[in-house]
Formats: sequence, structure tokens, C-alpha cells
Amino acid sequence: MTPNSWKQSKEFINLISDNLTVLLESSEFETIRTQLMELVNNLDKRYGININCMIDIIDWEEERILPLLNTGISTAESGEIFRTWNDTSPQKYVIDGEIHVVPQDFCPSCWNDWGFKWKKRTCPECGIKLGEECKILLDSDVCPHCREGIISMNHQVCGQCGFKIDPGCVVWG
Ligand SMILES: [Zn+2]
Ligand SMILES: [Zn+2]
Repeated sequence: MTPNSWKQSKEFINLISDNLTVLLESSEFETIRTQLMELVNNLDKRYGININCMIDIIDWEEERILPLLNTGISTAESGEIFRTWNDTSPQKYVIDGEIHVVPQDFCPSCWNDWGFKWKKRTCPECGIKLGEECKILLDSDVCPHCREGIISMNHQVCGQCGFKIDPGCVVWG
């Protein structure tokens, strides 16, 4: 997928996501929520249940799938129902002085799967290396690992998750 086609699909994904929210919270969905609760109440306490709506983009030429949205409802251990979100948040990179924006866990150069970049520093597909040809652009102080804590040039360890930035892998924006 190219940056452009991703950008284009983002708008539609947001629209679909909003409508899924309306649907999941509607009275029409109440029957399914009730049945979900009945099911979970019939199971041992150690089990929970998810209902997920997933949107993937399928690339027939490259034979791969790009997940764009995963949202639904889950049961908590307390027995309550809550909404779940797992949309692919964008991550910025700098390659050859140019900014590339791709979903997390994807390679900013070849757009193939590349998860756990901080540990696996080389893209398994095109061989680009984090910290060498490719750096993560941090232009906010949000921790790129947990997205909850704060991280900056002067505070390189996240107070929330304990993640430590490798200064060689990032460019501060
Ligand atoms: Zn790659
Ligand atoms: Zn963190």
C-alpha cells in the first residue's frame, strides 16, 4: 500500500468506524449484547468474550493483508461489557531526510510487516535498518511504546511503561 492510498482509506475507515459505534451501541444490538452476557455467565469465571469487527485491506498483487481497524465489544473480568479499539496508529519515520508515515508494525520503506522494530532492527523484507537508513521521528512527547507515558530528549525513559529510547534510532522533531 502506498502512503497515498492509506491516507485516502483513512477517511473511509473513520466513517465506517463511527457507524460501527452507532451500531454497537444501538438498541438493535441489544439482543446480541444480552446473548453475549448470557453466554459469559454460563462460562467459568476465567473466560471472557470478544466480538470484533475488523477491516483489512487486501493487496492481491503483493498477497498481503494490511489491518486498518479492529473494534468491538468485550466482557471484563467483573462481567461488564466494554468497547475495544485497536486501530493502527500512524508512526512517522525519516528515511533519506524524507518523512514517511505508515501504520505501526509496518516498514516505512517497503510497507511489509515489521513489528517489534526496537528489538528486530532490520526489516525482514527489504533489509532497511532502524538506527541507520531509517529513524523514528518523535515530534511529540508521547511514548512510542505504550502511547500513554511521556518521553523526550531529556527524559528518555517512559514513566508509564519503563521503555527506554535508544537515541541512535530516533530523530527529535
Ligand atoms: Zn522493508
Ligand atoms: Zn511508555
